[in-house]
Amino acid sequence: MSTWLHRLLTFFFPARCLFCGRPGQVNVDGLCADCARKPAERVYRYFALKVCREMYTLECRAPMRYKKPFRSALWRFKFHGETSLAKPLAAQIARILDAEQTFDCIVPVPISAERLRERGYNQSQLIAAALSEKTGLPCRALLTKIRENRTQHMLTAQEREANVQGVYACADADGLRVLLVDDIVTTGATARACARTLYQAGAAQVQCVCCAIVLPDSTQ
Ligand SMILES: [Zn+2]
Repeated sequence: MSTWLHRLLTFFFPARCLFCGRPGQVNVDGLCADCARKPAERVYRYFALKVCREMYTLECRAPMRYKKPFRSALWRFKFHGETSLAKPLAAQIARILDAEQTFDCIVPVPISAERLRERGYNQSQLIAAALSEKTGLPCRALLTKIRENRTQHMLTAQEREANVQGVYACADADGLRVLLVDDIVTTGATARACARTLYQAGAAQVQCVCCAIVLPDSTQ
């Protein structure tokens, strides 16, 4: 794109900081100078997981709570084709990974073939690929969604649990330490179903990272 056209576009449609939403100069990670200086928020949620009589704890972590204005960036990324956000979102996730933790691969939460045709991309896969580029860890699509279910965001926590039963499949994850990538963790039903499937396929360890986590008591 020519420089004048770029200037004209940025004048009418200024870039917005991914975190605070203010228009203006942003860095390569999509953040304004103020937000780039702040340490990542680091949000955690832990879920109990039972797989064939074994109890596991699934840790989900994110650089941000699911709140405005970050929420609208995630919405645009997920539903309105703003796939260029994958890279800055992955950069935020990379900020909260522990250097001493080792994983064998990054695995995205899959979407069904039908949803992929409809949307044209899997948002978690795009983040996983960008995170792979950033960290050097291989990205492997080990999970598949074998049947379409109802969209999770309209359902209650209990309905979400039932809605993801038997939805995912994994061929082989023998001995792998997996970093599972989801876009938003709301009740944890999807992440838990994916982690359960990975453990059933032999994974040694599963930890989940995502762009934002809904905290049970968060006011949005
Ligand atoms: Zn900002």
